[in-house]
Amino acid sequence: MHIAVDLDNTVLDATSAHLHYYNMASGLSFTPDDVNDFFIYRLYGWDQAERESIYHTYGHDIHWNSSPLPMAVEILQQLFSQHQISIITARPLLFREVTIEWLKCHKINYHNIVLIENKLQQCIDSKVDVLIDDGPHYAEEFALVNKPVILYEQPYNRSVVANDFVYRASNWMEVKQHIDNLESKRI
Ligand SMILES: [Mg+2]
Repeated sequence: MHIAVDLDNTVLDATSAHLHYYNMASGLSFTPDDVNDFFIYRLYGWDQAERESIYHTYGHDIHWNSSPLPMAVEILQQLFSQHQISIITARPLLFREVTIEWLKCHKINYHNIVLIENKLQQCIDSKVDVLIDDGPHYAEEFALVNKPVILYEQPYNRSVVANDFVYRASNWMEVKQHIDNLESKRI
């Protein structure tokens, strides 16, 4: 299968890294328990322009200092040996280099990497069979066109209902089970 994999809050803990640097920039002290929005910057009351400026200052450090989620690296290694893996992230191109270095440092192998906001079009164009992502909006977009998504559980995506195209996973062992089930349905 061709599997597309998001990075932030799917493969790695983006919430902790963002909070660390956003707290530093703002003098506030939010914790992961405060995060209930996919767009973390909204907690701080910033508008898009303020967020852009702070993200551009701290983005490199945020991305470099993020930790992989439990078992993400091990399971991705297994999947890489059996499937085509495309990393598809909405991070801006400015952070392409640090993203590639981070993947290398954590020994995450992949066949292709794309930094793009329109993941649905990218997945259609590159014939992706399933996307693994935490973004509630992606799950909804993909389900509308009958494309499967494994939705990596985060506090802000609990309202997305699992259905024939949205599979919920609260850890990477569950991600692997969904992939195995999808694979067995294809044969
Ligand atoms: Mg994400």
